[in-house]
Amino acid sequence: MVPQWLIEKKRDGGVLSVDEIRAFVGGYTDGTIPDYQMAAFAMAVFFRGMTADETTTLTDAMMRSGETLSFAEWPRPTADKHSTGGIGDKISLILGPLAASAGLAVPMISGRGLGLTGGTLDKLEAIPGFNTRLSTDAFRAALDRAGCAIIGQTDRLVPADRKLYALRDVTGTVPSIPLITASIMSKKLAEGAGSLVVDVKCGRGAFMRTRDQADALSGSLLRVGRALGRNMAALVTDMEQPLGRAVGNALEVREAVEVLRGGGPADIRRLTLALTARMRVLAGLAADAAADEGALAARLDDGRALAAFRDMVAAQGGDVRVAGDPDAVLPQAAAVEAIAAPADGWVAFVDAEIIGGAVLQLGAGRRRSDDAIDPAAGIDRLVQCGDQVVRGQPLMRLHAATPALIAAVRDAARRAVTLAAAPTERPPLILSA
Ligand code: URA
Repeated sequence: MVPQWLIEKKRDGGVLSVDEIRAFVGGYTDGTIPDYQMAAFAMAVFFRGMTADETTTLTDAMMRSGETLSFAEWPRPTADKHSTGGIGDKISLILGPLAASAGLAVPMISGRGLGLTGGTLDKLEAIPGFNTRLSTDAFRAALDRAGCAIIGQTDRLVPADRKLYALRDVTGTVPSIPLITASIMSKKLAEGAGSLVVDVKCGRGAFMRTRDQADALSGSLLRVGRALGRNMAALVTDMEQPLGRAVGNALEVREAVEVLRGGGPADIRRLTLALTARMRVLAGLAADAAADEGALAARLDDGRALAAFRDMVAAQGGDVRVAGDPDAVLPQAAAVEAIAAPADGWVAFVDAEIIGGAVLQLGAGRRRSDDAIDPAAGIDRLVQCGDQVVRGQPLMRLHAATPALIAAVRDAARRAVTLAAAPTERPPLILSA
C-alpha cells in the first residue's frame, strides 16, 4: 500500500477498498504513516465523504486498533448510551444507575469535555475520591458490584482514535460525518455493550447545529452500529437551550442527585426516562419504550436508582455521602453571584451557546485538552423557558473561584436569557425517536 495513492484516490472521489482502509489505519496506528499523511487523508474525507461501507470499515479498523472488551458472557444484558454532547447534559450520571437498577449492566467508557463544558468524567471527578481510571479488571469488578461503571478511555482502547482525534482537532477536520461516526462508534463498540442508544444533540449548544446535520449523523451512527452487530437506537434531541438548571461539574452532580431522588428539572427526568427505556427495549427487557418509562419513573421516585448510584460511587472509590447530602462533600465556589431579571415576564429562551461560553470562562471547561478545570465553577438555579419571573428575581447564579471571573461573564450571562411579556412554552425536547 502506497499511502499517497490512497490519499489521491479519496481526493479524486474514489471509493476505498476494505484492505486499503485497514492498511491505512494500521499504518497510522503503528507510526509508519505519519501525521501529515493522515491529515491529508482526513481532509480528503472531509471534502469527498465516505460511503456507508467505507465508514463501517473505517470504524471497524479503528475499533480493532487496540484492546476490545467483551461482555458476551455477562449474566445481564449490557447496554450503553452515548450523547454527542450538550450544555448541562448530566444524563449519564442518572441513566447508568437507573438502568442498573432495572436489570441492565452498563459498562460506560466516557469522555472529558473539550469544547464548552466538562464531560461525564469531569462531573464524576467532582465527587471526592471517585476514580475514573480503572484497569480493565477493576472496571469489570465495579460493573459486577454496582451494575454500572463509568471510566475514561484507557491507553489501550482505540489508540487510532486518540491520535486521529487530536490531529483532526488542529487540522479543521472535526465536522465530517464519516470521521465523527468512526470516532464515536469505534470507542463505543470497543467497550463491548450489546446495545447502544445514541442521543444526537441538535442546536446552538451542540456539534450538529441543524436538524439536517443531526439527522445525517444519527443515520450514519445507526447504520454503522447495526452493520457491526449492535442493537442500536438514536434520538435527536434539542440543544438550543441548556438541559436542566445547572451547568458545571459539581453543580451538575448535585442536580443529578436531585433527579435520582425523584425531583429535579422535568426535562432531565424526561430525557433520562426516554433513553433508559430504549436501552431496555433494545436489550429485550421491555416490549414498549413508552410503557416502560412509567416503571422506570417509579425507580427514580422510590430510591432504587439512588441506591444504584450509591453502589456505583462506592465501587469506584467515591464518597458515598454525595448521594445523601451532596453539599457536605462537593466542592463549593468561593464567589457566588445572582443575576437579577431586568423586568417582569416569562422566559422565552435561554441560549445554550452563551451559557456554555460563560461556564467555560467561569472555569468549568477546557480550551485545550490539558487545561485544568475548576469542579466548583458554573451556573445553577438557571431559569428555563416557560418560567415566570419578576423584576429583581435571580435568572441564575454564577459560581467561580474569584469575583473577577464572575465580573467577566456577567453581561453575557444576562444576554443569554430572553424574556417575553406573555406566557411561553418550551419547544419539544425530543425531536425524533
Ligand atoms: N466525539 C467524538 O468522540 N469524536 C468526534 O469526532 C466527535 C465527537
